[in-house]
Amino acid sequence: MFKKNDIVKVEVCDIGAGGEGIGKAEGFTFFVKHTVPGDIVEAVVTKVRKSYGYAKVLKVIKASPDRVEPPCENAARCGGCQLMEMSYERQLRFKEDKVREDLRRIGGLDSLPPLGGGGCRRQTDEGSHIPTPVRYRNKLQFPIGRSKNGRVIAGFYAGRTHSIIDTEDCAAAPESGAKILMAVKRFIEDNEISVYDEKSGHGLVRHLMIRTGFRSGEVMVCLVINGDHLQDKKTEDAFVRILRELELDDAVTEHSADKHLSDPETSCAEEYRHLPKIGSICLNINKDNTNVIMGRETRVIYGKGYIMDELCVDNRRLRFKISPLSFYQVNPVQAERLYEKAFEFADLKGDENVWDLYCGIGTISLFAAKYAGQVTGVEYVSEAIEDAEENAAMNGIENAGFICGRAEEIFPEKGSEADVVILDPPRKGCDAVLLDALKKVGPEKIVYISCDSATLARDLKILTRPDGVCYKIEKLTWTDMFSNTVHCEVVCLMSKV
Ligand code: SAH
Repeated sequence: MFKKNDIVKVEVCDIGAGGEGIGKAEGFTFFVKHTVPGDIVEAVVTKVRKSYGYAKVLKVIKASPDRVEPPCENAARCGGCQLMEMSYERQLRFKEDKVREDLRRIGGLDSLPPLGGGGCRRQTDEGSHIPTPVRYRNKLQFPIGRSKNGRVIAGFYAGRTHSIIDTEDCAAAPESGAKILMAVKRFIEDNEISVYDEKSGHGLVRHLMIRTGFRSGEVMVCLVINGDHLQDKKTEDAFVRILRELELDDAVTEHSADKHLSDPETSCAEEYRHLPKIGSICLNINKDNTNVIMGRETRVIYGKGYIMDELCVDNRRLRFKISPLSFYQVNPVQAERLYEKAFEFADLKGDENVWDLYCGIGTISLFAAKYAGQVTGVEYVSEAIEDAEENAAMNGIENAGFICGRAEEIFPEKGSEADVVILDPPRKGCDAVLLDALKKVGPEKIVYISCDSATLARDLKILTRPDGVCYKIEKLTWTDMFSNTVHCEVVCLMSKV
């Protein structure tokens, strides 16, 4: 009955898993991005299926009480943040509901312990309005391309596409990131450097990656190129010069930590006060026709080629070296809260044999080492394992060791003595072989840190099943690491039944 280009009036009543509003027009269901439950909007139909359709919002007729002015000028176009128009309180409620619903629907887990946590520490200021956290990301990745009229553009992909939205600033990024982005774009333009075209596979510059240590202030700029050199030595030198001349005097910190996230009552808040300064400039070589951003090879053209940062967990501070290809939590302020929860749940007594699977640069392993007998971290990115080993030495930690390999291969082979296992897999969750091994080895406790409640639910269903060793879910909590997006982090404690 509806067709493409029809104008419809949609009353939005729900939110889909991708953050899109779900509503009805004359009883027919429409998905409308950038709307909030409670909105009544005028929208144009973009696609119609048998029992539902998609529409694009044209005008908000009546705004939901949960609608806010987005804290970012790119909100309506950018695919990075899906919940920009939603108040932070409503975002938190959406995420909490999503976690509970995924565990129930996908995991079949009905009787669950209460789902504690949520949001950032400030949420505990009861009744007060929580400002939406912005400028919380320490890692930025901007695709670089050309507009139809040949201008160099860089920014973000529009939702679910590979068309680049030209951006001057990103509300999730420290302001220094915008300055670097603008300088790099200008440099490419001024020096007539070619940019990569995904379709043809031709052109040099692909992506700009910027990583900032929020505590150290150290910034690493990494340009991903489809070649071995940024044109020639002279151009590379000039690139280094223009970046080093940039004044990054905005203080990452004021935005990301002090104003929004950190708790001024803790000793750590004081630490976020270093001004950002470019410490490394690298070229990452990626000649493959793939949508994987980084290639395997990185060449340092200025500085040390990695950043250092510090994390403070339970008032203990450790220093970390982070190489370009190593994973590091993108919201370090909330990562500290997440780790504190994980350690509270693990409740280590000091003599346990702990395995930290998917350990990255060893952050969790090294904090855990103080409370454990022995810790073994497993990670398949070799640069991250090298970082982890250096990080152990640098922090004087002797009871943590690291193994490079797949968790599902290393743990079944070597993990038979594990008392406690900490799991922190990527979004796709744990491999079935690993879950099977856990059910054979039977560690007393498993702490599962998940960045996708759907795959967590799938894995918990297996771990709680009464074949082999069976686990019981003891505690659950979640924390908001990715404000304005649909993503959140869940921590789950399981004990052996
Ligand atoms: N716990 C770390 C890293 C978590 S991110 C932290 O908090 O910083 C997940 C990590 O798992 C990444 O470093 C990724 O490289 C690694 N990884 C992904 N699949 C893996 C696998 N099958 N085996 C081992 N490591 C894996």
